[in-house]
Amino acid sequence: MEEDIREELNKLLELQDKDIFILHMENRINSIPIEIENFNKEIDQMKNMIKEEEEVLSGMDKRLKDYFFEIEDMESAINKFEQDKLKVRTNEEYRAIEKEIGEAKKKKGKLEEEALDLMEEIEEKKEVFENLKNQSEGRIKELREMIENLKKESDSLKEELPIRKDERLRISKRIKSQYLEIYERVRSIRNDPVVVPVRNGACGGCHAFVPTQKIDHLRKTKGIDTCEHCGRILYIPEEDL
Ligand SMILES: [Zn+2]
Repeated sequence: MEEDIREELNKLLELQDKDIFILHMENRINSIPIEIENFNKEIDQMKNMIKEEEEVLSGMDKRLKDYFFEIEDMESAINKFEQDKLKVRTNEEYRAIEKEIGEAKKKKGKLEEEALDLMEEIEEKKEVFENLKNQSEGRIKELREMIENLKKESDSLKEELPIRKDERLRISKRIKSQYLEIYERVRSIRNDPVVVPVRNGACGGCHAFVPTQKIDHLRKTKGIDTCEHCGRILYIPEEDL
């Protein structure tokens, strides 16, 4: 009789191990899509950042081109003034054109200076951008590999899960229905272990005090009982018997 109950207990513990294992598998299967989503978000963020930087750079290139057009226009204007200068008749007209030429040259010089500054700025920014882009592309590659591995992990877990559930079913069928019923009932309301040892006079699940009488009986019969507080199945571990 004693041996029988101990055997049932061992089967319950075996069932519990299997359930914990299955629960971990299911949790892992559920967490993988969230991890993949986060990695994808990181990839998108980096792609967007690269795109934004590229747009900034192309805007700067455009501004530089505009400078070149303005400088060209200024050159044409200066040439035109120089031509006009040959045709003037009075000193007054001559001075007026000289003044225009002077101002146009000054303006052209300023534009050239600004264009040069912008060119330097673009060069520096391109260098920083290239580094950033290389780093980001490296990270994106890494993330994509991680995503692939997660997908493989998920596939293999999903393949393994029914096998473990089938094993669980086979174990459960070997347990006497009176014990299995208690086990299933407690399991349906608690995620924690259902079968717990009595340690230092307390329930290993909820830590409530277990009456001495109950402990004595458990010890004497090497059997199992339930916790009055949480309903878990109690037993005395082999080493404490
Ligand atoms: Zn308890």
